[in-house]
Amino acid sequence: MGVRFRCSACGNLTRFDVVATRRTRAFHHYTVAGELTIEEEEELGTTIEEVTCRWCNAGGAAIEEVPVSGAGDP
Ligand SMILES: [Zn+2]
Repeated sequence: MGVRFRCSACGNLTRFDVVATRRTRAFHHYTVAGELTIEEEEELGTTIEEVTCRWCNAGGAAIEEVPVSGAGDP
């Protein structure tokens, strides 16, 4: 089940600035001339660091994670 954000300060459910760190493993394929092509990028995990409401600029404890309900449920 997925989660979404909710701003408890203004009730916003749809607009957020999210700062995240994404860890990936990728195949860096260089030509003899040194030109890089990145292939087979695989995501190892994403860490959400900071979420800020786009409407009222609240962040930190004002932003809650709530389960996504409705569409998509079996
Ligand atoms: Zn807000």
